[in-house]
Amino acid sequence: METTKKYNPETYKTPTGTKLNCKGWVQEAALRMLLNNLDPEVAEKPEELIVYGGRGKAARNFESLDLIIKALKDLEEDETLIVQSGKPVGILQTHKDAPKVLISNSQLVPNWANWKHFDELEKKGLMMYGQMTAGSWIYIGSQGIVQGTYETFSAIANKDFDGSLKGTLTVTAGLGGMGGAQPLAVTMNDGVCLVAEVEQWRIDKRLSTKYLDESIQDMDAAIDRALEAKKNQERVSIGIPFNAVHLLERLKERNVIPDILTDQTSAHDPLIGYVPHQISLEESNVLREENPERYEELSYESMYRHVELMLELQKLGAVTFDYGNNLRARAQEKGLKNAFDFPGFVPAYIRPLFCEGKGPFRWAALSGDPADIAETDSVIKELFPENESLMRWMDMAQERIAFQGLPSRICWLGQGEREKAGLAFNKLVKEGKVKAPIVIGRDHLDTGSVASPNRETEAMLDGSDAVADWPLLNALVNTAGGASWVSLHHGGGVGMGYSIHAGMVIVADGTNDAEKRLKRVLRNDPGMGVIRHADAGYDIAEDTARKHKLDIKERLK
Ligand code: NAD
Repeated sequence: METTKKYNPETYKTPTGTKLNCKGWVQEAALRMLLNNLDPEVAEKPEELIVYGGRGKAARNFESLDLIIKALKDLEEDETLIVQSGKPVGILQTHKDAPKVLISNSQLVPNWANWKHFDELEKKGLMMYGQMTAGSWIYIGSQGIVQGTYETFSAIANKDFDGSLKGTLTVTAGLGGMGGAQPLAVTMNDGVCLVAEVEQWRIDKRLSTKYLDESIQDMDAAIDRALEAKKNQERVSIGIPFNAVHLLERLKERNVIPDILTDQTSAHDPLIGYVPHQISLEESNVLREENPERYEELSYESMYRHVELMLELQKLGAVTFDYGNNLRARAQEKGLKNAFDFPGFVPAYIRPLFCEGKGPFRWAALSGDPADIAETDSVIKELFPENESLMRWMDMAQERIAFQGLPSRICWLGQGEREKAGLAFNKLVKEGKVKAPIVIGRDHLDTGSVASPNRETEAMLDGSDAVADWPLLNALVNTAGGASWVSLHHGGGVGMGYSIHAGMVIVADGTNDAEKRLKRVLRNDPGMGVIRHADAGYDIAEDTARKHKLDIKERLK
């Protein structure tokens, strides 16, 4: 049952500094990261416990949140807290190297795995939607996705625009938790970005965190400004308070063809996430409550039109791709036969990185002190000086990323690199070069942790897109290796019925025990990705597996 309790920033303030509130640093890390997920600077709607991604929550309700906090404070070193869809349900005896928290979110038996059934259960208070890092307590605000988005736009620059987005116009929509990173990632690649977002407060939030440069209220004036900026090869992003469909229609009418076209509205969720263009935002908020069926009908019609317009602009020359929100599937469900004529971003740009075990590695300073992140940044620069795009990212991140909540950093590291970084961070803690332990995690959108046929596993070489053994094995492997908390989710990114994925977090607390756990987990976790892609027949993954001795055939020779 929903409690009436409200989010209070003082009660739920993330502890910082070196004083423990729990019986060990691993439990303390889980407590701080849970509260950090809900920090108003980090979360999209903390008053509803929503962190990002439509309705991705950190806890089922306030009663559960309070109980989780209490349980974490009480948890012994050899115990594990069990969390079922955002509700703590038990504390079990385990051992000191076992995860301190095991989480399962939004899992449904496949035949029942749809939003309709999930909504019924959610209404009864039996489930919550965990998205990816919302329900697994390792969301770090929009920075988390900036690096991935930066990687994607650099890959587009390399593949289609001679290495730079200078003098190009990217058109997209959605400035939410994830989508808010798009304008910054485009300008980091020297391009111009025009973004439609229905809610003005989201535009204002991105302006205040400097992810967005300008906001213009008039659509034609905004298009003119974008065209002028493109002509002058400026590096600028412009947000406009309009529905994506209306922007695309106007672009078509004016015969303005974007160089790059994508979308990050919350299309994975036709009821709570996507706002249909046929009605105003105010009307949509009323209709969603009063007549959810009608709302969904409008939403599907709108997504059909949205994809239709993207396809038309693609034909006219825009480099068009789906940015992981399942928009194409919604249009196809409504009857648009060629909805998948533009590719998803993973097969188009990201898969070669996955084959090397690369993915969104991230960490946060539990002390709350930005100087600790500066220390870790120096370590990364010392460890991987030959990686030019990583060095470029680190410089730009230091200069342009405003921290949200606990200071944190993200960079894409691959097989071998993650282990090196984790061990180096543990050494920093051991030697007192940082004030408190460092918590290390990653997105579920990673090399070996997700099965999502319309996104991360779209168009696998061997056709194994829908095989979900891999994320389950990933969660089991990380539990066996001694990650600090492990989670298994359903429906993240693309919605119910479309994905199964796993999360892991591990704490570098400077101890010898942590060193052993870090060695295992940060080798095995990306290792599962390399093995998964090698098994599917990717040459790069096979080479990486051989190089890092992950290849079973080599071992059993
Ligand atoms: P969010 O719910 O925080 O934000 C979505 C934004 O879209 C909101 O600000 C909303 O007002 C706006 N919006 C909705 N309909 C609109 C419309 N028709 N026109 C203009 N604006 C509209 O979600 P988010 O965390 O930003 O994620 C966005 C989508 O991207 C989700 O579907 C999510 O699952 C997906 N996603 C992608 C990646 C990736 O790496 N590509 C990763 C995680 C999630």
